[in-house]
Amino acid sequence: MELKKLKTVLNSQQRQWVGNGFFVHGIVRPTKDLQKHISPFLLMDYASPKKFTSTEKPRGVGMHPHRGFETVTLSYQGEVEHRDSSGGGGVIKPGDVQWMTAGRGIVHDEFHSHNFSQQGGQFEMVQLWVNLPKKEKMTAPKYQGYSKKQIPNLILGQSGNLRLIAGKYKDQHGPFFTFTPINMYDLSTRQEEEVSFRFKNGSNTLLLIRRGSLSWEKATYDKKNVLVFEQEGEIINLKLSRDFEGLILNGEPINEPVVAHGPFVMNTQVEISQAIADYQAGKMGQL
Ligand code: MN
Repeated sequence: MELKKLKTVLNSQQRQWVGNGFFVHGIVRPTKDLQKHISPFLLMDYASPKKFTSTEKPRGVGMHPHRGFETVTLSYQGEVEHRDSSGGGGVIKPGDVQWMTAGRGIVHDEFHSHNFSQQGGQFEMVQLWVNLPKKEKMTAPKYQGYSKKQIPNLILGQSGNLRLIAGKYKDQHGPFFTFTPINMYDLSTRQEEEVSFRFKNGSNTLLLIRRGSLSWEKATYDKKNVLVFEQEGEIINLKLSRDFEGLILNGEPINEPVVAHGPFVMNTQVEISQAIADYQAGKMGQL
């Protein structure tokens, strides 16, 4: 079986505010060159650890729409409270994952929870945008939320853990439903570990480093880097440092045109114009 090679390493030292609650490294974006190598993933925003002071008025992002894809929110520190027009909602606490399918259209808001806002403290989160294939872009909105306890926590190497969020690892399955084949693992170690993953030939694989470092051939990569692997090959061997934490995303690429405009991701410009018109006409619902 062939080893996968490293395609590129992405990072973004600069941070930008999303609303007033999320100070993120916009590490992954669906640019023309990159799109093919990250699909079905579109975007990754990493809110690296940041301390927030206590406040009565929760910080976050007010009401906005989405159509044509899914947002996945993983909390590591702090809490996010979410409401959407399909009736989905809840508080995403550390270790919890929320998977929102915008499909034909949703309106939502995303704020720090009341509890976290009042107490203040460290905040760390990842938000992913996952594309939908053409035939599912207008699917009914859907909401999946699983708590830390509901996500299988498996053994990785000698001292590590693998949280199986979606897809398969060995003979186990993650709880989240996905429209296209996706594997999503949260990794952590205590000691140095040499680990190996096997993914389908032709699939795309990304790895975000949140803590610690990993060695790949002669190079070492540390936090806030995303490694993007080649589609060819099946095996990824990694040497992880002690106290490593990272997120692996793997998925079968959706080989369809991507036209992204703000909160909408469709296949054509005409569909984007329709999305804007439908949102303005109130067809994506309200809170
Ligand atoms: Mn949103």
